[in-house]
Amino acid sequence: MMFSAVLVNPPGGDPGVYLEMKYRRRALMFDLGEIYNLPPRKILKIEYICISHTHMDHFIGFDHLVRLCLGRNREIALYGPPGFLGQIEGRLGAYNWNLVEEYVNDFDIVVTEVSPEGWQRTRRFSCRHGFRPEGEGEERPFDGLLCADRYFSLRGAFLDHRTPCLAFRLEERRRINIRKDALAELGLPTGSWLNDLKDCLIDDRPPDFPVRIRWKEAGGMKRERQVPLGELVEKIVRITPGRKIAYITDAVYSAANARTILALAGGVDILFIEAPFLHADADQAARKHHLTARQAGLLAGTAGVKRMIIFHFSPKYRGREEELYDEAAAAFRENRGRRETPV
Ligand SMILES: [Zn+2]
Repeated sequence: MMFSAVLVNPPGGDPGVYLEMKYRRRALMFDLGEIYNLPPRKILKIEYICISHTHMDHFIGFDHLVRLCLGRNREIALYGPPGFLGQIEGRLGAYNWNLVEEYVNDFDIVVTEVSPEGWQRTRRFSCRHGFRPEGEGEERPFDGLLCADRYFSLRGAFLDHRTPCLAFRLEERRRINIRKDALAELGLPTGSWLNDLKDCLIDDRPPDFPVRIRWKEAGGMKRERQVPLGELVEKIVRITPGRKIAYITDAVYSAANARTILALAGGVDILFIEAPFLHADADQAARKHHLTARQAGLLAGTAGVKRMIIFHFSPKYRGREEELYDEAAAAFRENRGRRETPV
């Protein structure tokens, strides 16, 4: 498994999912409410942050993040809805940065504002320049893809929350597993060379590409071996499809939103989906442009997700969380395998 995904806060707390790439010291986040539950060492691994919309509970953690990263060598890419660039500029412009020009390290925030009209614009806010945005920004078309990396791709789609609200899908490229038993049989050590091996596969190196294996013996003696990539693949590697994770929050239950959610979240391994209200309070949910637990379960069932994790519970159900879980789980079972979601 490469990505692990957990809610940062209890389900009644601010939204935020922390996605960590194992063994790579890298992490992503979906939304950025309060993040005091995350230890600084975890916050400092974050490289990408996807913001659904800028209601306070989804974005208040930004200042905490910036404060921790000050003076360090970091680059963080942020993605957000219409108006996002101006909001980041305003947020950073609210502080006095007269001392940062002396910092040795570069801390850059690279912000992309995504538009439902099919474009995305990116600007850089550099600590060294007092976080004043640079240039006019680079504009390119938005067809659903936010970014693609060697290891994963990130997609976004707009939902209606009486304001455009982004939903996200993270997709790992194929997953490369090491068969530890086979490793032992061949007398090969574990270690960082296994990451190099995975990178060789990600970069599509040819089968005769020599993979360098270096290790220290118990007595401290350094050993080295070179094995052709093809041989290692045959003997110790198993390739499986990558993990898919989707994040849906703050959406009214409508036919249009249901279509978008099913298209984005179809077949994912884990679906994080908001469930702020019980269905008995469906009127209130609709007025506030949110889903009920039943609606979340129905959508997850139709989307054919392997696992559903609900969150963003309204404080009115404090102490009654089980009812929300039960209602969502029942609807999930009821709608599993159905191709339609009743709206
Ligand atoms: Zn919200």
